Amino acid sequence: MSDGLGPRRGGAARALVRRAGIAALARGPLPALARRRAARRGAAAVLCWHAIGPDGAGPEAWTVSRLGDLRAQFAELARRWEVVPLDEALALLDAPPRRLPGPPPRPLAALTFDDGDASLHAFLPALLDDLGLCATIFVATAQIETGRPFWFDRVMNALLAPAPFTLDLRAQGLGLRRFDAPPGAGRWPAISALLEALKALPPDRREEAAASVVALAPPAPPGPRLGPMSLAQLRELAAHPRIAIGAHSHGHELMDRIAPEAARASIARSRALLAQWTGRAPAHFAWPNGNWSDEVGRIAAQEGFASAAALGPAEGRFLLERGARRHAYPRIAVGRYDSLDRFRLRLAGL
Ligand SMILES: [Zn+2]
Repeated sequence: MSDGLGPRRGGAARALVRRAGIAALARGPLPALARRRAARRGAAAVLCWHAIGPDGAGPEAWTVSRLGDLRAQFAELARRWEVVPLDEALALLDAPPRRLPGPPPRPLAALTFDDGDASLHAFLPALLDDLGLCATIFVATAQIETGRPFWFDRVMNALLAPAPFTLDLRAQGLGLRRFDAPPGAGRWPAISALLEALKALPPDRREEAAASVVALAPPAPPGPRLGPMSLAQLRELAAHPRIAIGAHSHGHELMDRIAPEAARASIARSRALLAQWTGRAPAHFAWPNGNWSDEVGRIAAQEGFASAAALGPAEGRFLLERGARRHAYPRIAVGRYDSLDRFRLRLAGL
């Protein structure tokens, strides 16, 4: 699950001006300058997506990238970056500063996907094979074990009704929530705001409030929904030569907001289950929602993880490079409502 990055509400004219500005920046010299700078510094862009949806179909949520958009983003990376396995990108953390003469090589990029949505099994292998790329999937194990989507996916699945509606969540302390825009980029700010409000609740109240959202939301037409891959699908992906499996906790808990021993139990359980299910202990971890602290970083290392990924910038960095924390390195989060121009700017740290 994401940190809710996405487009902001604005008038149609302002949106047009913003799009034109983004296009001018993205098609100007900045992205190439940023790539050269990244290559010179020995830095890597580690990208993070979540789920994949077929073109022209839902589910409409920031976390579901359209297949065609993802292919275009992958192609952009394959053309201008050196896409490498995550291990190779992480090796930059220990690399000596580059002092080579001449123009730098292409900067490195690594591809990651969080949570373990079933759509990754449906779409990712063919996409990686077509372009000759590799990716890491960070899997949160509880939803694989139970087959039940996490609360945030249940909430996003519930908010797909085409007509405007209002949810009365005053009893849950979440106020009246209006969803006026049709499903898509226009509705996403309202969904994202509700998800953030839910994240701020204590875990037991969050589950309860999420259940209320699902119960109160008007029915949506049938179509694809967010939900976990099966154990058999996970095993298939783990056996794919271009895919590595990492851990993403057991219950997708916000690790800096629960007791350290609960965090340790979740981190250890996800590692043990993935080792049991795939026959290989995962080497790398990603913080659910990007929430981490010094203490849980130490715990992840003690539990055997060689690295742990943040979500978005970390400590002022947006690229993985020498000096970044091994257990909270930055990633660039990309979602459904990021155009290719916006994607190019994210890669340039803008
Ligand atoms: Zn997640």
